[in-house]
Parts: sequence; structure tokens; C-alpha cells
Amino acid sequence: MTASFRRLAKRTAITSGLEAANLLRAAGVMRSARGRGAIFTLHHVRPHEEAGFAPNAHLEITPEFLDLVLDRLKSDGYRFVALDELPALLSRSGSGQPFAAFTLDDGYRNNLVYALPIFEKHEAPFTVFVAKGLAERTHTIWWETLAALLRKEERLGFDFGNGHEMLDIATVATKERAFARFASHLHRHDESAIVGAIDLMARKHEIDPGEIVDDLVMTPAELNLLEASPLASLGAHTISHRAISRLPDQEVRDEMEASRDYVAMITGARPGAFAYPYGTREAVTQRQAAIAREVGFDIAVTTQPGVVTSHSIDSITYLPRLSVNGLYQKVRYVSGLASGIPFRFASNRG
Ligand SMILES: [Zn+2]
Repeated sequence: MTASFRRLAKRTAITSGLEAANLLRAAGVMRSARGRGAIFTLHHVRPHEEAGFAPNAHLEITPEFLDLVLDRLKSDGYRFVALDELPALLSRSGSGQPFAAFTLDDGYRNNLVYALPIFEKHEAPFTVFVAKGLAERTHTIWWETLAALLRKEERLGFDFGNGHEMLDIATVATKERAFARFASHLHRHDESAIVGAIDLMARKHEIDPGEIVDDLVMTPAELNLLEASPLASLGAHTISHRAISRLPDQEVRDEMEASRDYVAMITGARPGAFAYPYGTREAVTQRQAAIAREVGFDIAVTTQPGVVTSHSIDSITYLPRLSVNGLYQKVRYVSGLASGIPFRFASNRG
């Protein structure tokens, strides 16, 4: 199977899982599946802009959809809690009412502009995970740089390790294929080096990776403004936003501690929460979860799908999250998503 077909197959499997979960909800089957509650992952919250080539579309939802998600969860009986409350909450026995905790990764400015008012409307606490290198503009966001570059050009030269190659990227399909190839290359080789090469190539094509970060990511002053809301908390998300499973332990520790101290400098208090960049099984293992515990985080989250159960207290620095995914913006999916059921349907695919 080609990568794009696998993606499509997986998306179809998840979609039908969500449809099935919605039917199960109607049949009253969901209660047993939802565990103690769920932690939701979001990235961008902003109005939709039509783009033919949108490789990061899964990372954004509209403010209207967030509003619907919160409405639906409330009517399904969920109680909104801050992520920081989870360790205490999980050490007690459950009340029967499931909780929902909301997290937003990377510190995008649209979290302040569009997400905050919706969370305020619903009185829902949320945690924004800050990568120091992005807030301080010392690092770039390769997936955004690459999207801008592939969108702009019709041909692109790059060396994936077998000598210089010219990629024909005139169509959306070839741009998507190229994006997947760069992503897989980056996840298999030295991430800093490949990010550097992408940035260099972008600059040659008059795209400024630093400007992209400036456009998208909150400054320390804006983080301060956000944090002034009693509903908002800040958590740590490394400095460089690399897959930490591929770094030596000491570097993992440095990434965790420096990002923790950075958030502490902004808020005046040491953050208890950490989110692993990418958060997949490939990007973080139990080994780094142990380091997060040693460094002193009370809670740390992956992006591996699942609900939080009474047993989750034993893996408090390796908790699953459910992504509120931009590709499935239909409110009837939300209850199903919160149960974690769709992922059982999808788990044996791609
Ligand atoms: Zn991230």
C-alpha cells in the first residue's frame, strides 16, 4: 500500500469507528467505555481557510467546532477539569461523573485569540504547552515551513541521502507525497540537521521560517496575557520540539528542565505538566516517562489515543490523549471520540 492510501484507509477506519461509536452512544453502550475521563489534544483553533494543499489540516479546528465539542461533552455529562487536578483526582475513587481536560500544544497565538473566549464561555480550564525555542524564536516549525515551501513551488531539489534529486511537486497529490517523504526522512535521521536543511532550502526560495514562527506562536508577553485568565495554565513542551526518544538521556533531561524553568519564569510558578513533542510511540517511550518523573513533573501526556482509567495513576507521566482532529469536525463524532472506541476500530490499520 502507498503511504497516501494507508492514510486514507486509516482515516476511513477512524471515520467509520466514529460513526459506530455515535450509534453505540445512542444505544447507551458508551458509559462503560469512557473510563474516568479523557484528556483532549488541540493545536490551532482558528477560522477555516480553504487551501488545496493542507498537510497540517488535522492540527486545526474552528472556534465554532470547539464550541460544539464543549456543548456536546457537557450534555454527555462530562465535568471540565484542569489537567493539573488529575493526579489528585485519580488518587481518589471515581464519582461516576467522567472528566474532560483540555490541552493545546505548541503555544499558538490563535489559542489566545480564538480558543480562550470559547473556554471562557464554557468555564472550561485548559493547559497550553509551551516550547521555549518557539516562544523565544530560536527554533522553527518544520511542518509549517515545509507546507509553505511545497505550496509555493512546482519543483524542488533536495538530497535525501542518495544524491541531489529534483522533485516534481506541481500537483496537490505530489506535494502531499513530498511532504510525507520529508517527514519520514526527518523522523529517521538527525532531526536538527534535517530541520536545518529544510530551513536553508526555504530561505533559498524566499520563505523565512522565522517569520512563520513569529506569525503563529505567542511571545512571552502574550503567554503572560493568556496565563492571566484563571482558566489557563501553561505546561512545558521542551525547547527544540524534537522526538526525545532519539536523544541521549542527559539531553532529554536538559530539554525538560529548561522548558520547565522557562515556563516558571513566565508564570512565577513551576509547571507540573509536560507534553512530549509528537507524543507517538516512536517519539517517546517509558524511558523518557521515567525521566519526566525524576525531573519532577506531576503529570505528562503523550498523543497516544486512549481514555484515562483508574490504572492511569501508575503511568501518570505517560498518559494517553484524544486528538480533536481537524479532519473529523462533526459534532456527532465527539461523544464517540471521548469514549476512545473509534481507535479500537482503527488500531489494526496502517
Ligand atoms: Zn508540539
